[in-house]
Amino acid sequence: VISLSQAFACIGRTEGGSVLGDLFGYQRIPRPLSIRAQLRALEGNHFHVNVICVAPEDWPTWTTHQICHALQFTRDAFGTVGIGLGRIEWYAIPSDQAGSYAIITGWSEASDLTASWTVPNDGLDLFVVRTIIDSEGESAIDGSCDKNAKGMTGSVVELYEGADDYAGNGFAHEMGHYLGLDHVPIEGNFLGGVDGASNSWSGVLDWQGERMKTHCLMRRGWQ
Ligand SMILES: [Zn+2]
Repeated sequence: VISLSQAFACIGRTEGGSVLGDLFGYQRIPRPLSIRAQLRALEGNHFHVNVICVAPEDWPTWTTHQICHALQFTRDAFGTVGIGLGRIEWYAIPSDQAGSYAIITGWSEASDLTASWTVPNDGLDLFVVRTIIDSEGESAIDGSCDKNAKGMTGSVVELYEGADDYAGNGFAHEMGHYLGLDHVPIEGNFLGGVDGASNSWSGVLDWQGERMKTHCLMRRGWQ
């Protein structure tokens, strides 16, 4: 397994950093974490994520825990097929700039949100909103790596009080779409169920992993 200093270099922390805040990208420990598993993730196939919180000023305190939990849920699910989440960076769009995007209604508003803001780096832009009306998440399928491209250039997810794994599926599910996957009618799969209603499921099939590994956001190796 690579060393901690190699891992920090991989995520752009050449001077080193904190294990929780930088290596994992969390503000608190959401569920059991394996440092060894995270080092292995950075050694192999992984992608970086920008968590962009939309109008978070008035969010209740459980939301921070849930976002960290949902990211780790995704790490644990994707880890079963040899895919990791590398660097996680946190951003916020303040309420006075987010305006009506604080609550998203459907695909076109979600798409507009991703077109209106972007983080100019090589990470997947994951927009977290408190509530999406008429949907549980939106994402491009096989999304662009050119964030100035037309259309949806990120994934949009929402939060659920008291349902951390449900939110976790939403994070994994929408990022799975961005990385090239469509729904599959398989119970237990993170993209399964009827019309993509995948509940709290975390199963990832090998072929789904192989497909995601071909996406342009995917990095291979720690350098
Ligand atoms: Zn879906």
